Amino acid sequence: MGFSGRQEDRRGGLRGTRGTARTGGAASGPVGGRGPPRYRTEKARSPDRREGTRHRRSGNDDGMTITVTHADRQAARRSLQGLALGDAFGERWFPLFRERERAQEEIRQRRTPEEDDWRWTDDTAMALVIHQVLDRHGEMDQDRLAAAFARAYADDRGRGYGAGMRELLPQLLEEPARWRELAPGLFDGGSLGNGASMRVAPLGAWFSADLGTAARQAELSARVTHAHPEGAAGAVAVAVAAALSVRGELSVSAVADRTPAGLVRDGLRRAAGVPFATAPREAAGILGSGTRVRADDTVPFAVWTAARHPADLESALWSTAEGFGDVDTTCAITGGIVAAATGVGGVPADWLSRREGLPLE
Ligand SMILES: [Mg+2]
Repeated sequence: MGFSGRQEDRRGGLRGTRGTARTGGAASGPVGGRGPPRYRTEKARSPDRREGTRHRRSGNDDGMTITVTHADRQAARRSLQGLALGDAFGERWFPLFRERERAQEEIRQRRTPEEDDWRWTDDTAMALVIHQVLDRHGEMDQDRLAAAFARAYADDRGRGYGAGMRELLPQLLEEPARWRELAPGLFDGGSLGNGASMRVAPLGAWFSADLGTAARQAELSARVTHAHPEGAAGAVAVAVAAALSVRGELSVSAVADRTPAGLVRDGLRRAAGVPFATAPREAAGILGSGTRVRADDTVPFAVWTAARHPADLESALWSTAEGFGDVDTTCAITGGIVAAATGVGGVPADWLSRREGLPLE
């Protein structure tokens, strides 16, 4: 199913979409049994969303008819807020801010970090770019995305960008289309890091009505900087997880089922077998928590904690923090997935007053 030619639908159709969080799979989930799902239309069950949402009937690969509702702007905003909160919260647990024993003790006691200026990092800076490109163009226009990543980096370099981005993004500032040759040259074969995964949850929420589109757009978003298939697979997994979260259908195995074959999917399959009764620190030991900053070392644990607490952002973030590792990024991923459904309203008020806000209209 091609993606071009729908610009008008997305641009025209989404203004004013109401922000009702979907609360369960029953109303918004698949209709019918096996095979590619058909979806009930929002229009059928929520007349008040009619004005802002358009529907397109298209054949999928198996010739079945599906009804696609594009662009859940409100879910994408919820996800972005959760991602930024997770990023800023997670950053507090790095040794830069508190040494490991103190961090472990404070997490065990669920003690809110005392600083009153929780800044977000590169995870959020890049997620803001993806959100902006979606908002303006309705899809992942890769040259525009590359240019916008480069501009965001040039405007604010002090967000903890990794080495690959510090090398790549300045080169894209004048010639953004060169991502095609430059990204595959990073790290001898393209980056398989977690950077494409950490920024993509809002995209998954945006396209939550169509998991196939969410996956394809996530891949496009990744390739601009992460040319290695594992780097892109991590992004697909997180986007699908955020989409499933919006739909009230999040499970680790459902995410694995829609992730391209490889190490990320292997890790998700392993995660699907880790019972939720397992302590997060132990799960992080089994799955990895980003210590190697690779997608396959990061995404399975972050999806696992999200699926462990799909309706409780605060608990999801505490559990993710318990895993340490690349903790701003694991918390950004988990926060983006869970908040796509819950929003950030359920976390303690002092979290919201301490976190850095977002430059959104
Ligand atoms: Mg970061």
